[in-house]
Amino acid sequence: MTNTLIQETAIDVNVVMQQSQHAFDSYKKISAADRAAFLEKIAEEIEAKRAVLVSTANAETNLPEARLNGEISRTTNQLKLFASLIKEGSWVEAAIDTADATRTPARPDIRKVFVPLGPVVVFGASNFPFAFSTAGGDTASALAAGCSVVIKAHNAHVKTSELVFEAMQIAIEACKMPQHLIQHATGKGNVVGKALVQHPNTTAVSFTGSFSGGRALCDYSNERQAPIPVFAEMSSINPVVFFPDTLQKNAAALAQTYAGSITVGMGQFCTNPGLLLAVKSEALDNFLQILGEEITKVAPQKMLHSGIYHSYNSGLDEMLLQKGIQVVARVEKEVQDIEAQPTVAKVSGQTFLANPHFKEEVFGPFSLAIVCEDAKELKAVLSSLKGQLTTTMMATEEDLTQHQDIFELQQTLAGRIILNNVPTGVEVCAAMVHGGPFPATTDARFTSVGTSSIKRWVRPLCFQNFPDSMLPEALKNDNPLNILRIVNNEWTREKISKK
Ligand code: NAP
Repeated sequence: MTNTLIQETAIDVNVVMQQSQHAFDSYKKISAADRAAFLEKIAEEIEAKRAVLVSTANAETNLPEARLNGEISRTTNQLKLFASLIKEGSWVEAAIDTADATRTPARPDIRKVFVPLGPVVVFGASNFPFAFSTAGGDTASALAAGCSVVIKAHNAHVKTSELVFEAMQIAIEACKMPQHLIQHATGKGNVVGKALVQHPNTTAVSFTGSFSGGRALCDYSNERQAPIPVFAEMSSINPVVFFPDTLQKNAAALAQTYAGSITVGMGQFCTNPGLLLAVKSEALDNFLQILGEEITKVAPQKMLHSGIYHSYNSGLDEMLLQKGIQVVARVEKEVQDIEAQPTVAKVSGQTFLANPHFKEEVFGPFSLAIVCEDAKELKAVLSSLKGQLTTTMMATEEDLTQHQDIFELQQTLAGRIILNNVPTGVEVCAAMVHGGPFPATTDARFTSVGTSSIKRWVRPLCFQNFPDSMLPEALKNDNPLNILRIVNNEWTREKISKK
């Protein structure tokens, strides 16, 4: 069994990236059907190790077993979803414009399809040891696209990562895939990670974590002779607007729902609702009071690792030192070890607008309520925000009718806009967008969750004037893959009668 663990030397990184290139050169020629069977086999091997994976991840991350079991199911379903996407095949967006000799000047035959980029480096995320780590969505989508993968394991769950990697190695052997198709690297991000990003064979990078980490990877890429895309998901405070009519009618239910969303998983989700906005009213006071009561009922739980725990506490301490902030509720139960205390605070809209510090992410179970003077100030607050993964509207029909302008403003802010729901919980499906304007991500045109995330790992390649025998299957006249293509500007599965 091949288990390439990189020590902290550039020489090892060089060997690994050369192996990855070699594996890619073979893998890109393997049919989509065989790649799909391989993804399904990885899912099967992960399922076979479920019990040990859960217990190991539980010991490494403090995440409860039920959550880890759910995350494993999400991971294996994700692998199967990408398998079915590439089996169907139309995702390659084949486009064909046949030759036209009658036109002046004559038009040549032009055909376009997506092709895989090459070796991809995936940074595992601390807050999702399965679904955004070793065999998570980034790896699954890159393998589905036809890329080879080098995983930089997150140091907070190296043993879990190694076990998942072993499951993938079994699948590589069983499916007779190229030997170094997937490799596993451990070590410091700013040493091993940097060398992986900067190696000339690396063609793209994925990352979920801190703003400083994501920014550093972009800087490493820009220092390269040939910069490459770094798809980093970094920082988001996910503003939620509570409109007046719904606050008036549903304060208690909204408070219960949001106390749950703020504290689920001890707030360690990139979609945690970090900012709650509303215009001042008695109904808002009532909502905040009930929210506070609900928050104080939550039992403190251990965070993922001591780094995140210290960063939550120092971020929260700094936030609570800002002028004009008032604590609404803080869990005061005695905390043990690295347990977090969920907290909600509030500031006026004016205070928020005067101090950019309030826009900083405090990663963990913390939310800041912004009490605005009126709808105009609420819009000024929204307009002042940086790019987000999500923004939410809690509203009745009447609210929506009255506040079309806020709906339009919210659409400019984020990759996903939500109505009467919570931002936590990201469905893996074709329509999902888990992305958004900077600094939520480095490239708002892409999503890191759902089937469209495969597009991060491909580039369009155009074939001009080639005979049918030399074209990829997706572009051949007979459409042997039976995929949906754009032929002379019309979507069709039809064959092309002659070239
Ligand atoms: P992180 O510190 O950004 O680390 C994530 C990965 O990137 C690790 O493998 C890390 O390697 C590497 N890395 C970090 N800085 C690097 C650099 N300068 N150069 C190269 N590699 C680097 O994230 P984390 O450990 O998961 O949590 C720390 C903070 O990130 C949290 O407190 C939170 O603020 C934020 N976070 C945000 C999200 C989100 O979804 N928005 C998710 C998780 C965490 P090393 O371990 O060797 O440093």
